[in-house]
Amino acid sequence: MDSYSGYINRLIAELSVLPGIGNKSAQRLAFHIINMPKESVERMANAMVDARNNIRYCKECLTLTDKEVCPVCQDKSRNHKQIMVVENSRDMSAYEKTHKYEGVYHVLHGAINPSMGIGPSDIKLTELLKRLQSDVDEVIIATNSNIEGETTAMYISRLIKPTGVRITRIASGVPVGGELEYIDEVTLSRALDARVEL
Ligand code: ZN
Repeated sequence: MDSYSGYINRLIAELSVLPGIGNKSAQRLAFHIINMPKESVERMANAMVDARNNIRYCKECLTLTDKEVCPVCQDKSRNHKQIMVVENSRDMSAYEKTHKYEGVYHVLHGAINPSMGIGPSDIKLTELLKRLQSDVDEVIIATNSNIEGETTAMYISRLIKPTGVRITRIASGVPVGGELEYIDEVTLSRALDARVEL
């Protein structure tokens, strides 16, 4: 490490704070960047600074956007009485790509994870409850089907039940092409519960 110049070490140190990037990957990226044309590096650096400076939370659903209200919340043709709760903006974008959902979203920016010290007050639940004070027909909980996602789903359902709003959970069924024997019981029983008539 010490054979590198200070600039390279600094670049490696900055890159290694990124998720999934260990020291080895950071070194590989650093040398790749150094060999890139100057203009490309500038464009990349500016994209990072511009995104960081201009992106904020949508006033309604809290997704990351560069406007006060995101395009989904602005869309009057969508059902604003149906709110799908997701863990992050990437999940929202994944559901948008299906073109199957016509309601709006609420982005929690995380999931309850006691072992990591992330409690209910660390995700955007207060904001969700506030939204339920207006006219809402249904809350669809679409958190992940891992332990954190299930814990969060259970917590939200208990929280919302007293308001009388209809609350549903997406079925996390058997993946297409998945072999039943390799699928865990929770997934399988969920798939059974959410079965449809043929
Ligand atoms: Zn929004």
